Amino acid sequence: MQLRFDDIPDDGLRIEIDGPAWLPTDEFSHSGPVSARVFLERRGKRVFLTGAISVVVVLECDRCVESFMLPQHLEFSIDLELVDKGFLNRAKGEYACKSDEMEVIYLDEPLIDIHDILAQQLLLALPVKRLCTAECRGLCSRCGINRNLQQCRCSEDKRSSPFAVLKKLKS
Ligand SMILES: [Zn+2]
Ligand SMILES: [Zn+2]
Repeated sequence: MQLRFDDIPDDGLRIEIDGPAWLPTDEFSHSGPVSARVFLERRGKRVFLTGAISVVVVLECDRCVESFMLPQHLEFSIDLELVDKGFLNRAKGEYACKSDEMEVIYLDEPLIDIHDILAQQLLLALPVKRLCTAECRGLCSRCGINRNLQQCRCSEDKRSSPFAVLKKLKS
């Protein structure tokens, strides 16, 4: 969903997006309704964007590989600044930076990709380490059992072997 700076009226533009069209679905799935709203205000060569996202993201646990739900209710504000290409080259193509609370995105044309911005905001908010619970015990590295649900005997075997086996052979 692309929007030109000129599409924004003087008193601002409010957009409500229902549905998952903008979700980066190659990264994760979701559960239930997805809603996002954005308000845009134009100030010359800048657009001031405030937005909110509400979605329940379904992630895979890094330890036990089970799916788990992570509700996300985000609010954000971004300063979109129109700059010339030379400026962007000097900044080595890095288009975003954070100053205090406000995120700044540099654009080389007066075009805003709302879906892209929503997807970015959500990805930034997700944890790097994805765990179903902080105490997740993960899978057993030997038999693959989900140690949150069942207990295997691998750790016992490990403690008694290999010396237990040697002992047996000797006797
Ligand atoms: Zn887990
Ligand atoms: Zn095991």
